[in-house]
Amino acid sequence: MAYTYDSENIFAKILRGEIPNKTVLETEHTLAFLDIQPQAPTHILVIPKGPYVCFDHFAQEASEPEITDYVRAIGEICKAEGLEENGFRLIANAGREGVQDVPHLHVHILAGRVLGPMLARAK
Ligand code: AMP
Repeated sequence: MAYTYDSENIFAKILRGEIPNKTVLETEHTLAFLDIQPQAPTHILVIPKGPYVCFDHFAQEASEPEITDYVRAIGEICKAEGLEENGFRLIANAGREGVQDVPHLHVHILAGRVLGPMLARAK
């Protein structure tokens, strides 16, 4: 599948400095910042600086340095936030059925409380 990147998405604007963010970590290829509507005491978004729509796009087309930088950045944040002790959850929503709102790859790091079941259960 060909991925089409919309350079007007909100995270692209954050990367261009057009919208402010609360930066947690910045590396050569990665930016991490606080989610504007936190769902847990710790809610950090980690995005690659490159124009990747979703995780599968990144996994298929990003360079080795980009992938290494991104994964290491997540590890660095987990360490800096002390998340090894009580645990955390990583979420990467993708596409329509994954209910991805912002079409620029982002991993959510959620922690700081018991997060409950992985998915809302259908009644
Ligand atoms: P998703 O539904 O996985 O695409 O998640 C998008 C996330 O981006 C949501 O958790 C929003 O709260 C978050 N978000 C949207 N706009 C901003 C912003 N300007 N700064 C920080 N987080 C944002």
